[in-house]
Amino acid sequence: MEIQCHCGKIIETDWKEVIDLDSSVEQEILEGTFLTIDCPDCNEKLKPEIKIILKNDKTALLWLPDISRLSFMTDQVKVDPSVTDVAIGFKELQEAIKLYQSNLNKSVIEVIKYQIYKKVEDDKDVTVYFHDLMDDQYIFHIEGVKADEIGVLKVPQTMYDKIGKDLPDLVEKYPYSVILKKPYISVNNLIMGDSE
Ligand SMILES: [Zn+2]
Repeated sequence: MEIQCHCGKIIETDWKEVIDLDSSVEQEILEGTFLTIDCPDCNEKLKPEIKIILKNDKTALLWLPDISRLSFMTDQVKVDPSVTDVAIGFKELQEAIKLYQSNLNKSVIEVIKYQIYKKVEDDKDVTVYFHDLMDDQYIFHIEGVKADEIGVLKVPQTMYDKIGKDLPDLVEKYPYSVILKKPYISVNNLIMGDSE
């Protein structure tokens, strides 16, 4: 796969369009070193977002660059039928790996994120991410409420379990029907679709 540096240099990489999602790849994603390369001309460290599929025996995760979001939402991105999950942008990719590692239900997590968004003032450009599972507490990070500050919200196991039980009903109802649409289960379906 070829990528282009900001300086114009075309770099030939050995990156493939389908990559085995093993524990070392997961580690690189969480550490932020996944698919990084130094430009041989200007020495800039490049971390391009590209369209790839990360695959293991449980999942086939389609990763798309953030700039593809609009074309994906308007069905202009070809999605292989084998794809079971979609992440757009690097932060969503990291979040997906955290969910796999903690063996969590993405549908439940996205419903919780929606409920957090509803509570936060909607005139702010806020982003909510699942961060970690610690001692039966689901930790979410809220970015954008205050500049240079990350809000932390802890959600108890009881709420996670309750939403898990309610999922079959929720999926029938708007807006959850939009949030829980496969393969891109994401509260961001709603934000894009409802922006105008
Ligand atoms: Zn360069």
